[in-house]
Formats: sequence, C-alpha cells, structure tokens
Amino acid sequence: MVCGLRRVFRPGTLSLPLPPLPSPPSRAAPTTGRGSALGPAGERPAAGVRGVDAPAAAGGGARPGPSAPSAVHALSVAGRKVCGMETSTEGEERADSGPGTVGVRADTAAVPPASLSPSRASDFMQCPLLYRFRVIDRLPEKPSEAATRGTLVHAVLERLFDVPAADRTAPRAKSLVPGQWELLRETRPEVVELFADDPEGERLARWLAEAERLVERWFSLEDPSRLEPAERELFVEAELDSGLRLRGIIDRVDVAPTGEVRIVDYKTGKAPRPEYAEGALFQMKFYALVVWRLKKVIPRRLQLVYLGSGDVLTYDPVRADLERVERKLLALWDAIRLATETGVWRPRPTKLCGWCDHRAHCPEFGGTPPPYPLPVRAPESGGAQQGRMGPD
Ligand code: SF4
Repeated sequence: MVCGLRRVFRPGTLSLPLPPLPSPPSRAAPTTGRGSALGPAGERPAAGVRGVDAPAAAGGGARPGPSAPSAVHALSVAGRKVCGMETSTEGEERADSGPGTVGVRADTAAVPPASLSPSRASDFMQCPLLYRFRVIDRLPEKPSEAATRGTLVHAVLERLFDVPAADRTAPRAKSLVPGQWELLRETRPEVVELFADDPEGERLARWLAEAERLVERWFSLEDPSRLEPAERELFVEAELDSGLRLRGIIDRVDVAPTGEVRIVDYKTGKAPRPEYAEGALFQMKFYALVVWRLKKVIPRRLQLVYLGSGDVLTYDPVRADLERVERKLLALWDAIRLATETGVWRPRPTKLCGWCDHRAHCPEFGGTPPPYPLPVRAPESGGAQQGRMGPD
C-alpha cells in the first residue's frame, strides 16, 4: 500500500463509492470548447493519430473511427470528443507511453510547443532530447506490437459501451476485436507493417489472441453492464492562469448522480511496483487538474485499470495534490520553454533508451541530431533546468 493509494487486487469488483449511472435519457452533441472533433456539419474528424501535444499550427489530435458521440452527462468538459482508433497515452509498460503526434512528420514548418500533455510531460522528464525529437523535430517512429495492441484494446472497450448494458459480456467484447483490428488497419495503414514478415498469419493470430485475453480480463476487474460512462475518450483542454495549456484524452469519465466524478484509464501493461506508483498516477493527477480547472470540481477518484496484471489502482485526490501537480507542470513548462529558445536539449540515458526509436540521432549512441529547426538564442544558464525530474 502506497500512502493514499488503494490497490485492489484481482478478482472482484471495485470498492467504489460511485453507484452505476442510469442510462442517459438522450444522446447529446458534445460540448464544443476550443473545437469539436465533429466538424461544423457533424463530419467525423480527419484520420490521424492522437496529437494532444501538437504544436499550435497542427490543431491538436483527432482520432478517426466509427464512433458515435457518447452521451454527455453532468461532465461536459470544454473539449472535444475524440472517437475511434488512435495511438493512446497509456503508461510506460505499454509502448503507448509514446506517440502523440509522434510517428507522423508534419509537412508544416516546426513551431514551438504550445501545450503540454501527460505523455509529453513524461517524455521531458525522462529525457529532454527525446521530447525534442518527438515534439520539435517530429521524427517518425515505428508502430510497435505492444502499442498497437493497446490501441486495439482501448477501441474495443470504448465500443462495447455502444451496445445495450445487458449485452456487454466478455464474448461480445471479444467479438469486436477482429472488426476493430480491420478498422485500425484502414485508418492507420502503417500498422500493417507489423506483420509484413508473417505470411502465414501465426504471429498475428497470437497477437490477436492476446488482445482478446486482455479484453476478457477487464471483466474480472469491472462490470461494464453496470456502468454508463458519462464520457469516453474525452479530449480535455484547460488553460492555467500562467497561460500554459494542458491537454489530454481521458479514457473514461464516470459521474455519479451525486455529481462525483471518477476518471478511469486503461492500461494493457502490468501494474507498477508500489515504489513506482507515483509515476503512474502523474497522468491521472494531470487529468484531475484539467477537470478541476474546467469544471471547478475535484474528481472524487482516479482509477487505473491494469489489464496486463489484473490490478486496479485507485487514488482519491485532494486539492493539495492538484496544486502540487500544477506547480510541477509550471516548472516543467519553464524548462521546456528555455530549451526551445536555446536549442539545448540534453540527452538523459536510462534503461528506457532500449525502447527509444531515436538512438541513431542520439549523441549518447554516437548519433547526431538533425539541424535544430527553430531560431535560438544563446543560453544563459541553459541546462540547469534539465536536471533529473520526477513526477512529484
Ligand atoms: S536514446 Fe535515450 S538518451 Fe537518447 S534520445 Fe532516446 S531516450 Fe534520450
């Protein structure tokens, strides 16, 4: 048990103070804040990958897919719904700690970062040079089996809430896997490369079976027939008093009749050891801060559902937690801005370098970064702000 952190082990349901929500009386169009994933005429967003840290000119990320806008309950966050397949921001275990706009080189000129998401904040804390490669240079990254499986599983869990509550069974959920995989192949053709060397389809079959196992495990942790999410795959964005814009995509938001809000995130990896739980919660506190700023309500509960290990981590945040995260993010943003202006982005090698797609460009591995695409000024005390940073 980590201080303030409740860990609920498999099997069983959660010790939730939030009762299941009734079905909404009618579907409502998502509230538009800075923009809607549905266009002015209700079109679906253009195909793309999640891009919550897109530079201002890129217009943020939207996900393609067949998803209808989900019901909007009490929580209509000033953001946009993002529907369908995407690269998600799951934790470090799954490769979807990664790419937001990552993997797709923009045709437009590089621009300074204009906002911060949990994934990109984590990138900078892990390695400032990695952040540069992903956000400033926008170097392409290859899809990975783990990240793509995470994307697939997320899509299945989201889509399952489209069917009537009584039909939300494990077999029904598993039956969605092939169709969602087909959709993923259509909307993100690069994932087809993953199995290009598997003409017999054996590896693909094992990969799909593992996705089904992860989906099935969810039913030992939550009962979707008793849940009616207020939001799924919700894009949120808030501007702090300092002008820093925070953005992210929340897997699921539950709102109790009392108005209490629970933020839920699915992970296809394993739960971290207790000493690393704080890092895992960073993303959730980030979302809680955004919701608090937008709705003036501190979420009652943050919940991480680890499908890889069958664990659930919960945390009930208090105001001081979120204020601490805000201070942390402001310091992080100052460091990012300084690095952007000076062009000083230090590599910080760790064992995570083994998963980094950019070793060929990294001085730690004998590589040379591409020419810096932004104007620079001479650093005054550059680098001091790039000391080791943690989530708390
Ligand atoms: S290889 Fe390691 S040090 Fe180099 S950019 Fe990647 S994460 Fe940073």
